Amino acid sequence: AAPLPATEPLTVMGAGLVGSLLSLYLARRGHPVQVFERRADPRRAGFQEGRSINLALSDRGWRALGGVGVANDIRQVGIPMTGRVMHDVQGNLTHQPYGHEGQAIYSVNRGHLNRRLLDLAEAQTGVQLHFGQQCLGIDLKKQQLNLLDTATQQARTVPYTRLFGTDGAFSAVRGALQKTDRYDYSQDYLEYGYKELTIAAGPDGSWLLEKNALHIWPRGQYLMIALPNLDGSFNCTLFFPYEGPESFAALQTPAEVTAFFTRVFPDAVPLMPALEEEFFAHPTGSLVTIKCFPWKYDDDVLLLGDASHAIVPFYGQGMNSGFEDCSALNELLEAHGDAAWPTIFAEFQQQRKPNTDAMADLALYNFIEMRDRVADPRFLLQKKIEAKIATQFPGRWTPLYSQVTFSHTPYAEAWAAGQRQDAIMSRLMPHIQAEADFEQPAVQALVQQEMAAQA
Ligand code: FAD
Repeated sequence: AAPLPATEPLTVMGAGLVGSLLSLYLARRGHPVQVFERRADPRRAGFQEGRSINLALSDRGWRALGGVGVANDIRQVGIPMTGRVMHDVQGNLTHQPYGHEGQAIYSVNRGHLNRRLLDLAEAQTGVQLHFGQQCLGIDLKKQQLNLLDTATQQARTVPYTRLFGTDGAFSAVRGALQKTDRYDYSQDYLEYGYKELTIAAGPDGSWLLEKNALHIWPRGQYLMIALPNLDGSFNCTLFFPYEGPESFAALQTPAEVTAFFTRVFPDAVPLMPALEEEFFAHPTGSLVTIKCFPWKYDDDVLLLGDASHAIVPFYGQGMNSGFEDCSALNELLEAHGDAAWPTIFAEFQQQRKPNTDAMADLALYNFIEMRDRVADPRFLLQKKIEAKIATQFPGRWTPLYSQVTFSHTPYAEAWAAGQRQDAIMSRLMPHIQAEADFEQPAVQALVQQEMAAQA
């Protein structure tokens, strides 16, 4: 397509988290933007959010929100979580800080964040939001959208000049790209599903578990997590096999659910008065990693967010990486100017693809860490030793979690550094049985040697 005259609208498909933020970025650069979204307007009364009531927002997401001036506003309604609290089967608690003093990830309500971004987008001159518009397909050659009005069930075609596909993991925009020659696509489902449950607020709206933490019940083959909400409740997510002796398939009756939860999550059950009802009323969600390439079609279509890189949720980076897509695109627009779409689309996918691939691997890696390794005292000791190395060698050892969560280091670099650190720790840890061993001359000599080899 030819460079876009400023009067021609850019088209965004999908007004979820990434689409609403992207439309704000594009509109702030002076582009007219039209947004189509399958769902009804989530700001209307009675709207039911489909999944994950709250999300962990971290530095990459904050920076992207900051770029359109909305970070402070969202921070007001976020709850800082400074670390993990692990709950063992006896109800004993172990704390593990996420970073250093003052660092936190934030529990943020998905619906609130989406509505706030939509409000801001609508307040921008030039953004037109169209709800109840489902994309059925795209004619890439004719540059036409096939839209269904979900209220009237009328189908129509709408032309586009430049289309941004932010319509999520099962993107219809990507579906059109997939039909083009030599298109790479893969989807991998975990044999696990997830179920959302609730830890109720105390009678006075207080938090019945430590508020400023992400709670984890690691159980080896499965886990439950809980993130705090502003009203005193916690949103719990059980990540659980579909099949097997301990699985969704094995829990068929309310009595089986209660017996199982009482056995494996005994400290949580008394705080979950609606457990049986919610377990059967709430859907079981699936967990998928989706990779594809290219993310663009000529300089007409570009995919962002889950549409191009859906990942499993165990690092809390799905939304954050999608938001980082928006700030990365904006940086390219800044660098090349708003008419240089061919260069911008090409550079965007070239820059982002290796990083979101690394993030997909990291998310799977963290699944094992969260469900299993955080319950292992040796692993927790290793994390303490890593923190000591980080203090001893400022700027030369940033723990992997911090690189992913509290930095803007490209994900692929973070992952490579994390793998180097893992290798070092596997050589060091056999010499360490307790925290104090770190100070022993022989251990210090090894640490110095390893760090010198890194330099
Ligand atoms: P979506 O949020 O899926 O939005 C896509 C939008 O497109 C939707 O509004 C949809 O209605 C619309 N749409 C879809 N198809 C069509 C169509 N054919 N026509 C028109 N519109 C369409 N990420 C984090 O960073 N931190 C977390 O803590 C975290 N926790 C998670 C927990 C769970 C259980 C899950 C499942 C995910 C979690 N994520 C988390 C990931 C995060 O939810 C996604 O990465 C994020 O929602 C992606 O945003 P998106 O806008 O790309 O896609």
